[in-house]
Amino acid sequence: MEQWRQIQKNNFRHWKSLAEFLKLDLDKSFFSHPYFPLNLPRRLAEKIEKKTLNDPILLQFFPHQKENVASPGFLSDPVEDTSFQKTPRLLKKYEGRVLLIATSACAMHCRFCFRQNYPYNQPPLDFSREIKAIQNDPSIHEVILSGGDPLSLSDQRLATLIEKLATIPHLKLLRFHTRFPIGIPERITSSFLDILEKTRLQTFFLLHTNHPRELDPDVLQAMKKIQRLGIPVLTQTVLIREVNDNTATLKELFLKLAASGIVPYYLHQLDRVQGAAHFEVSREKGLQLIEALRKELPGYAIPTYVQEVPHQKSKTPLTYEALSSAQECSTPFSECEQ
Ligand SMILES: *Cc1c(COP(=O)(O)O)cnc(C)c1O
Ligand code: SF4
Repeated sequence: MEQWRQIQKNNFRHWKSLAEFLKLDLDKSFFSHPYFPLNLPRRLAEKIEKKTLNDPILLQFFPHQKENVASPGFLSDPVEDTSFQKTPRLLKKYEGRVLLIATSACAMHCRFCFRQNYPYNQPPLDFSREIKAIQNDPSIHEVILSGGDPLSLSDQRLATLIEKLATIPHLKLLRFHTRFPIGIPERITSSFLDILEKTRLQTFFLLHTNHPRELDPDVLQAMKKIQRLGIPVLTQTVLIREVNDNTATLKELFLKLAASGIVPYYLHQLDRVQGAAHFEVSREKGLQLIEALRKELPGYAIPTYVQEVPHQKSKTPLTYEALSSAQECSTPFSECEQ
């Protein structure tokens, strides 16, 4: 078995063992009991401060009982993924790009994940339907491997999939959307790097990271191996209350990335998935943070602040102008944008 799969077996999956490890004096009633269970790699758990719940790493993975509180506007599928299925595992929302739900599995379970309720694992589990749909649509030039986390697939399965994609003449670009290396950097194996090196498709590697403490020398070293192949490494960050909703934390995160040659690509407004209301930061505050960062960082280290609004032709950049016109017509932001 691959080393990274062995490491993954040590993930915390039970509240009791995590509470013991972190010296938290909590009983069962403190935890939510959703069907999206606790899943936290040991490496991340080791970065968490003991004896407190107010740790920015812990807050992202702790199945808190607050998740059981229903909040109006917080939905099971806030971005309407299921309205855009070309096949059960192929989403096409934007011109030229498709998103392939490669697997349901992740290295970790982020409590704010907007895809936590996705109807994964519908047969057939190979990608024959998805490959056929891409072959039949010459407007598609890019495939985004997402999930779940595409790096949960074995190198063998990834190699087979990418070889098939590379035979489709109209495909030019391949993108990974992953958080896996933040939990288990050993996942960037030499056989994975071989796959990236061999494919004719120009690859972009998008890492999901929310806090500077997630980026340690091992993680950055793993990204460096990808960068050395000439593959751009970019990041996506979700703006999360009490995790990264302050200038100092975002500045440290984006500067650390830039210092490693990694480009912060998107800062996402939280998608309103049910159970995640306690993580939401207002768009006004998000805009203030971006404005403050402009005074402190080079332009290339400041990501575009975006929100995913269903039925828009792209992610929606958040600006003061867009926000104030939305308030004037006093309808939901999505409708005012049109
Ligand atoms: C976010 C997203 C993309 C990628 O959008 P970019 O702006 O190109 O990064 C593509 N497809 C879907 C379904 C998405 O949600
Ligand atoms: S790693 Fe990504 S897909 Fe998986 S739970 Fe976290 S946010 Fe969701």
